[in-house]
Amino acid sequence: MTIRRSPAERALLSAAVLALSGSIFIPDSAAAAPLAFGACRVVAEDHSAAVARVSKISARVIESNFPKLVGRSIEFRSFESNSTFFKTRFSVSRYLTFRGTRILLSVNPCVFKLEAPPDGVEAIIAHELAHAENYFERNAFERLGLIRLLDGDSLARFERRTDLVAIERGYAPGLIKYRYWLYENVTSKQVEKKRRNYFSPEEIAALDAIMRSDPERFRGFYRGVPLGICDLFPAGKAQRSKE
Ligand SMILES: [Zn+2]
Repeated sequence: MTIRRSPAERALLSAAVLALSGSIFIPDSAAAAPLAFGACRVVAEDHSAAVARVSKISARVIESNFPKLVGRSIEFRSFESNSTFFKTRFSVSRYLTFRGTRILLSVNPCVFKLEAPPDGVEAIIAHELAHAENYFERNAFERLGLIRLLDGDSLARFERRTDLVAIERGYAPGLIKYRYWLYENVTSKQVEKKRRNYFSPEEIAALDAIMRSDPERFRGFYRGVPLGICDLFPAGKAQRSKE
């Protein structure tokens, strides 16, 4: 039996499949692979404990810095990966039926087993909540657009713009600690990827200093997202443009 679908229905369905596969926010195919960390073995209780901890930390971060998320529907889950510790996406089934937006924030229990610094965890949760805030602000069609757009430089801009929100809300010191911890707990190939898609500790420190000395310039970074440390220093930028 053949089911005929309109082009719009087909686009919506393929977008749903993409979103369900997690390809937007976990671009690396290794994300669902069995855990490879020597020091990290998780059991069922680790999953429930991690979800409880993240839910508690999120409530605190929302209360102090994300007023728009108060009362919004965010569901906390867990997952296993050897390279990704948090991911946030919107619920596709609800999106398809236009019942409103629900956000799914998932944690890899290894973030606690491998003893990520507590203020680092708080900062990366602020980054995840910045994604949530962004999804709530978009209408259904804008979210559909997000699903197709995110690869290469557009993924780096998307993630780095999300880092800017966390930095602007005071999480730069924690984010720096988190990235140092992260680089020690993934493969060197993954470190390369993380450095490309997210701000490095050096970039975060520079951005934090710019935010304090020149807030207007900092806000400009939301439009022209820096993709490297040279983009943060005018002299470096001039040098880079000659290459
Ligand atoms: Zn992110």
